[in-house]
Parts: sequence; structure tokens; C-alpha cells
Amino acid sequence: MTDRIEKSDAEWRAQLGEERYRICREGGTERAFTGKYWDNKAPGIYVCACCGTALFDATAKYDSGSGWPSFWQPVDAQCIECETDTRYGMTRTEVHCRRCGCHLGHVFEDGPPPTGLRYCINSASLDFKPS
Ligand code: FE
Repeated sequence: MTDRIEKSDAEWRAQLGEERYRICREGGTERAFTGKYWDNKAPGIYVCACCGTALFDATAKYDSGSGWPSFWQPVDAQCIECETDTRYGMTRTEVHCRRCGCHLGHVFEDGPPPTGLRYCINSASLDFKPS
């Protein structure tokens, strides 16, 4: 795995702008059905909005009906890391980009085969690279 990226809050804010900063660096969530990619069906790769690491392939994307881009597996288990999130009175598993710590979304155990996982990811945390 490549080296981790560390930047100051001011550097991330300047790079990302307010809305993306709020989601990527402060763990925010975009409103359902408002992001760029929830309904994107094109082939390609979704990379981290902060550091450009490849995170999800379009071949693992599916329509979960949630209004957020949903995937049943990451490109590589090493590219993300998970952490328990107990905010808002819920216990959820939060997903970060391992390289830069970008908040991506959460993973739930109600996804489709073969993994049974649903990576529920903010569009704002991703950039799409069409293939
Ligand atoms: Fe990243």
C-alpha cells in the first residue's frame, strides 16, 4: 500500500471546498438522491475524492434503492478501513479511505451476493473515472 497522506484541515478545506470538506473530513452525509453518482451506471472506477486512490469498481455497484452509490465490495480490502460509529444513537460501521482517512460512508450487512455487504458511500467522497 502506498504511503498515507496527511494534510492540515486548512489544506483539505482549500482542496475540497465546504460541502466536500464537511462530508469527507468531518464525517458528514449528503442527502439521499442528491449526489452525482447514486444513479451512475457507466463502467469505470470510483476513486477517493481526497487522494485519488481507486476504491470501488463499477462492476461491484448495484442499485440498492437507498439514493447513495452502493457497492458490494471495494477494489481491494486494503484500500479501506472500518471503524465503529455510534453517533446518532446507532451502531454502524464507518468506512474510510485507508490512505488519507477520507470518510466514505458506512457498510451494512444487507447487500447482495456474493458478499452480502452494502458499502453505502457518499458521491461527494468519490470521483468517477470512466473506462
Ligand atoms: Fe483517500
